[in-house]
Amino acid sequence: MITPGPLDLLGRPMHDLRVSVTDRCNFRCVYCMPKEIFGRDHAFLPRAEILDFEEIERIVRASVSLGVRKVRLTGGEPLVRRNLERLVAMLAAIEGVDDLTLTTNASLLAPKARALADAGLHRVTVSLDALDDPTFQRMNDVGFPAGRVLEGIAAAEAAGLGPVKVNAVIRRGLNEHAVLDLAGHFRGTGATVRFIEYMDVGHTNGWRLDDVVPAAELVAVIDERWPLEPVEAAYRGEVAQRYRYRDGAGEIGVISSVTQPFCGDCTRARLSADGQLFTCLFATSGHDLRAVVRSGATDHELADALRAIWIGRSDRYSELRTLDTVELPKVEMSFIGG
Ligand code: SAM
Repeated sequence: MITPGPLDLLGRPMHDLRVSVTDRCNFRCVYCMPKEIFGRDHAFLPRAEILDFEEIERIVRASVSLGVRKVRLTGGEPLVRRNLERLVAMLAAIEGVDDLTLTTNASLLAPKARALADAGLHRVTVSLDALDDPTFQRMNDVGFPAGRVLEGIAAAEAAGLGPVKVNAVIRRGLNEHAVLDLAGHFRGTGATVRFIEYMDVGHTNGWRLDDVVPAAELVAVIDERWPLEPVEAAYRGEVAQRYRYRDGAGEIGVISSVTQPFCGDCTRARLSADGQLFTCLFATSGHDLRAVVRSGATDHELADALRAIWIGRSDRYSELRTLDTVELPKVEMSFIGG
């Protein structure tokens, strides 16, 4: 039964759940999983610590009973988890999940897109930080070519997983030129590029405020070339600020969590691959739902545990960010799920 969901201490409902299905990734993006830290010696989660699909399904079901309508699978790289389409089918069958999506680097998407769509996935968001290989490969740091990401996007569209959103993190001095390249490439294709301010998630990427290209600057650069106008947010808590091309060639989005924080509307919870619930992307610790699930709790008890976490939530990191908070031992994005 679906009853009105709980509100947190700042009056925010729980609407979105991001589920990290693995802490592993086949890329080593310099701003997310730098090789120096995530090298051969890095200890990824052992299999026994990772939630199995049945455990994930139970937690998603409990969250839906509290108001979640949108579920996004992420990681790490979610497509490195075997048989992900089986999980997709299990989640697609939950009544109340209105939007079931996947965020991926698309390296493994082309051969999987059809199976994912058949299993009930609605849409995909693909991360792509540049179109030229020298820049893209410098960013993914495993020599992966951008053309193969474009093949993944095409396969997703052909399988009915569109309109595709393309996420690009822009870091000063590294890929600023990619802004016009990406905007120009995807204009008029139906795909929407969302430019993301480089964030101080985790504490391994050596983040500096100087590396952030403010969203207002990104918009100004594109607007100068292809005039833009703002679009109203589609719903409360929409992460991207949207703009449309005045000539009708589609939309772009910007995600300005550093320069214009949107904590007041944040309705997201994140489940790590080992079953910890994080109520903020910048949290320093999570709540252990795996222990609840593995203790033999009933569905009702699981939902109660989730409700208790949510009603105690008061996070608003991005609004409180200072040079001191940047040093906090925050959880890595590859672990918590982007
Ligand atoms: N592997 C998948 C992918 O590449 O989309 C899903 C996980 S990844 C952590 C999700 C998103 O987080 C990607 O779009 C990535 O670019 C973004 N991301 C990672 N670190 C970031 C940072 N420091 N600032 C902004 N975005 C970041």
